[in-house]
Amino acid sequence: MSGKIALDSAIAEIQNSLRLLAENGCRGFDCSSQSIAKIEKWGQAPQSDRESLPEIRDDLGDCQRCKLALGRSCIVFGDGNPRAKLVFVGEGPGFEEDRQGKPFVGAAGQLLTRIIEAIKLTRDQVYICNIIKCRPPGNRNPETDEIESCFPFLERQIDAIRPDFICALGTFAAQTLLKTVTPISQLRGRFHDYKGIRVLPTYHPAYLLRNPEKKRAVWEDMKMLMKEYRYED
Ligand code: URA
Repeated sequence: MSGKIALDSAIAEIQNSLRLLAENGCRGFDCSSQSIAKIEKWGQAPQSDRESLPEIRDDLGDCQRCKLALGRSCIVFGDGNPRAKLVFVGEGPGFEEDRQGKPFVGAAGQLLTRIIEAIKLTRDQVYICNIIKCRPPGNRNPETDEIESCFPFLERQIDAIRPDFICALGTFAAQTLLKTVTPISQLRGRFHDYKGIRVLPTYHPAYLLRNPEKKRAVWEDMKMLMKEYRYED
């Protein structure tokens, strides 16, 4: 008998036995019709109720939901492992990202790659994305209406990936995810919560390029992240 047939027949036998016991008034264990129906699903692959990243990307389409559509070359959706345990969220694409359609591939991206490698991970193991998916003109800060149009897609991406950790890179990522106006200098250095996911804010790599003295603080944050990440293994 094949494994699958043997399992089906064992399940049917258990169900029949439970029904018989229930009919004979046996108590002390759960032989309700709901439990018996549940047994039917034993051995079946769990049905995924999750939206997939390609479905979300399809829905985004050739997005025209905000004025950034006018000046962008590429939508930068996100990149990396769709089942990542750790997601990095930055601010928004810069010149190189807009050109290549990938997040963090310019100078700040190279520093982010080194930070990821310093915590003994690779870019392929994590997922990298941004608060907004289109480059603001001249790399200005994202505006409220742009964040409001784009954030629902990031929320769906995070729901699809269901990571254990998010590293929020810089003010915009941290303040948007945590719905606060507290400065990044006060948010960093400890974990916060976003829908049950542990969020560690830290300084943005572009800020580190301009303020290398802040690298020590980021390294402290990364050590904290690495310790908790390994603990969850
Ligand atoms: N800065 C960001 O915040 N995101 C990128 O993708 C690149 C630079």
